[in-house]
Amino acid sequence: MSSKVSNNDYEIVVGLEVHAELNTVTKAYCSCKNSFGLEVNSQICPICTALPGALPTLNEKVVEYAIKMGHALNCKINNVTKQDRKNYFYPDLPKAYQISQFDIPLCEHGYLDVLLDDGEEKRIGVTRIHIEEDAGKLLHDEAFSGSLVDFNRSSVPLIEIVSEPDIRSSKEAKAYLETIKSILKYLNISDAKMQEGSIRCDVNVSVRKKRQKEFGTRCEMKNVNSFSAAMRAIDYEANRQIEVIENGGVINQETRRWDDVKGISIAMRSKEDAQDYRYFPEPDLGTIVVDKTFIQKLKDEIPELPHIKQKRYIKELGIPQVDAALLVENLDKSRLFDECMDIGGCSAKNVSNWILGDVSKVMNDLNKSIYDTNVTAEKLVEIITLIEKGEISTSAGKTVFEEILSSDKAVSQIVDEKGLKQISDSGVIEQIVKDVLSENEKSINDYKNGKTNALGFLVGQCMKRSKGKANPALAKELILKYIEQ
Ligand SMILES: [Zn+2]
Repeated sequence: MSSKVSNNDYEIVVGLEVHAELNTVTKAYCSCKNSFGLEVNSQICPICTALPGALPTLNEKVVEYAIKMGHALNCKINNVTKQDRKNYFYPDLPKAYQISQFDIPLCEHGYLDVLLDDGEEKRIGVTRIHIEEDAGKLLHDEAFSGSLVDFNRSSVPLIEIVSEPDIRSSKEAKAYLETIKSILKYLNISDAKMQEGSIRCDVNVSVRKKRQKEFGTRCEMKNVNSFSAAMRAIDYEANRQIEVIENGGVINQETRRWDDVKGISIAMRSKEDAQDYRYFPEPDLGTIVVDKTFIQKLKDEIPELPHIKQKRYIKELGIPQVDAALLVENLDKSRLFDECMDIGGCSAKNVSNWILGDVSKVMNDLNKSIYDTNVTAEKLVEIITLIEKGEISTSAGKTVFEEILSSDKAVSQIVDEKGLKQISDSGVIEQIVKDVLSENEKSINDYKNGKTNALGFLVGQCMKRSKGKANPALAKELILKYIEQ
């Protein structure tokens, strides 16, 4: 399937609703454990299964986490807000309503600047972030061709992040979703695991003729469960709508289901409007009033966020965009990089290459954080600095790195014990070069006749003669000096 709009006369307009489960210890309105993957219906109580007379109490952490996300997305935080009932019937919802927020969300009027693949930055408006509770989960059982329900997820806290319809392509949607996901991880407020359903996404798509001001009629696709599925769903849906319009048809506002296996969207029902949910203030819960100094305190606690960090790496440290993205994607890698930069003394690009190369390989191979080994930023900087100064070769640096993983010896001690110091004494190297050149007249002539790889051979001979300890840059320099005399 084509990965973009088939008809250039049209523009895609996308708005996204991201639901993120918060990783609080307990659920939103009761003291049941908020944990994924436990035995079915083992984390339930009269409150989250809506037994008559059970009363909810709001978990303060839910408000705290949502406000943090609000700050991260540059929102206005409403310090006085409330919760509302959203009424609908579904077998996974024992109350027959969901506690959500209707007219006064906790956070609103924000934005997020996302970095696109081509290096351009795009500002996407954030309409609102509100708190709500998750529903249970239906389990469809083939054995008796019926459905069972697991209420462990009932009342797990969620934030819903609603974007403005500012997204213009599936690529922009992906950049936005990836940035939201990494911010959730940096704030440590959600596991942000799509495969466990802790982030889910509803996609609103419409199309309009270019230069047309009004938006077209939108269709919503529910619970798209991966970012690549969201991209495919957007492209498919946009092309479907264009085809309908081009054939003289009309787009109906409706909710569609994205079938990622078949790569198509299927109409489910005509889209509900807010009035269909008969929202009204939740009578069992009081007004939420958040102290303004507490809101400020939460703002002060926000760490440097991944998209801001990535821009800093690119603009201030000259790291290529792809590398910067790989560094910030992993909290340990970016922490190690920042620590190395704070120590200073070696090039940012070299540190980045080491972290994305050898350090990442070790983390993958051992399946643990680099902080669970004996490697420290100080030791890594020391190795890189020795290589940059020509005191040890790159391969000797790798030997030292291997050694410090499991040993607490100092870098200098390992270099000494293993005899890894390079010969950078030009007098010693000069003698080696002279010996090599006197034995390799043919290679000298080859080089003079334009065979440039003969130079590499000669440097290689010097390395061999010095048992790998000659500084290759110095050897090369001296070889050229003699050949060109
Ligand atoms: Zn409960």
